[in-house]
Amino acid sequence: MALIVQKYGGTSVGSPERIKNVVRRVAKYKALGHQLVVVVSAMSGETNRLIGLAKEMQAQPDPRELDMVVSTGEQVTVGLVSMGLIQEGLKAKSYTGAQVKIITDSAFTKARILSIDEQNIRTDLANGYVVVVAGFQGIDKEGNITTLGRGGSDTTGVAIAAALHADECQIYTDVDGVYTTDPRVVPEARRLKTITFEEMLEMASLGSKVLQIRAVEFAGKYKVKLRVLSSFEEEGDGTLITFEEDDKMEQAIISGIAFNRDEAKITVRGVPDKPGIAYQILGPISEANVDVDMIIQNVGVDDSTDFSFTVHRNEFDKAMDILKNQVQHHIGARNVVGDNKTAKVSVVGVGMRSHVGIASKMFRTLAEEGINIQMISTSEIKISVVIDEKYLELAVRVLHKAFDLDLEPV
Ligand code: ADP
Ligand code: ASP
Ligand code: MG
Repeated sequence: MALIVQKYGGTSVGSPERIKNVVRRVAKYKALGHQLVVVVSAMSGETNRLIGLAKEMQAQPDPRELDMVVSTGEQVTVGLVSMGLIQEGLKAKSYTGAQVKIITDSAFTKARILSIDEQNIRTDLANGYVVVVAGFQGIDKEGNITTLGRGGSDTTGVAIAAALHADECQIYTDVDGVYTTDPRVVPEARRLKTITFEEMLEMASLGSKVLQIRAVEFAGKYKVKLRVLSSFEEEGDGTLITFEEDDKMEQAIISGIAFNRDEAKITVRGVPDKPGIAYQILGPISEANVDVDMIIQNVGVDDSTDFSFTVHRNEFDKAMDILKNQVQHHIGARNVVGDNKTAKVSVVGVGMRSHVGIASKMFRTLAEEGINIQMISTSEIKISVVIDEKYLELAVRVLHKAFDLDLEPV
């Protein structure tokens, strides 16, 4: 007998028919004698619909109230899944995040889980219940409802698996595993049987939304056995996230290509080349809770330099506003320019540690297509470039081919 946490995404619970499909799978595992916690997302499209409603009331919805609204999507699905299970003759009980006591910080719309009280769940499991928990939501210490950021149900699933020391956390979605890149963009993409935790962390942080990054972080911290699987297929091993590089069966140099359309680039031109400038530019940005991704400061010419960085596209206007109104004159910069039609493409692989020439191959491949690289950043196992958004799909396709990702590794 094992304790298994299964998380089902929006498409997998997108209609009563699909919820019945989830019920059948849960019943199958239960019949094998396993204990099950089921974490579900809102029905597909529902979270977007709720955000749309909020924006009709307030162009920039109040974050606390937005969480109040968007958290309702998951409350509907937990109830429906539970009903489906009861209808099948199983014992089932649904919980909101607050009812479980998934305690988060108070960063509305992107809250972090601080603790989970797993007592009720354990008692229910011991009494033979399937426990159905709403993904994506929690409650802060003051009792406010919070949400965990888009894709946050993955994190609920893994965090509950960690709290319960579950034997496995299964993420059921609309693809049958983690691919070399998004199979919707590159049909030749291949499913990976395994991917190392470090690679998955990079892929997730660089835009592969198949797993939310915090879910991967939790899995790493608490060594949760994590697998991504299809909710539409009966059979299949999906993709296992492994913690040892030696476990990696496929020894490709590059494991995958991640991309992100949500990048916006901002350049502060003609800033004095002296100590404290980076802080004066990025301090107010960070105080406004805007996350900064890539940063580049050019070599100064005539005591002045240009300072560029990227932010999430949703926060572009806010960041531009802060720079133009609070920073530019204060530090004596010439002007602030921005481009919110940029994208980031990254190649990821632990094999990079032991191979040279990956960067030059990447840059040559993009050059051959006439794609201009605007920014570059690297780490031990990834190389990222910022390019014009209109070349994104082309870039991903040619890189996928150049690194032979469409071929089984030998
Ligand atoms: P869910 O609603 O089940 O959480 P998501 O839409 O959040 O599903 O994530 C699954 C989607 O992630 C897939 O449909 C696919 O388009 C996308 N995706 C992006 N990169 C990858 C990748 N490397 N492998 C598999 N899927 C990916
Ligand atoms: N329903 C939320 C979203 O659409 C959380 C999730 O699906 O993981 O982002
Ligand atoms: Mg998701």
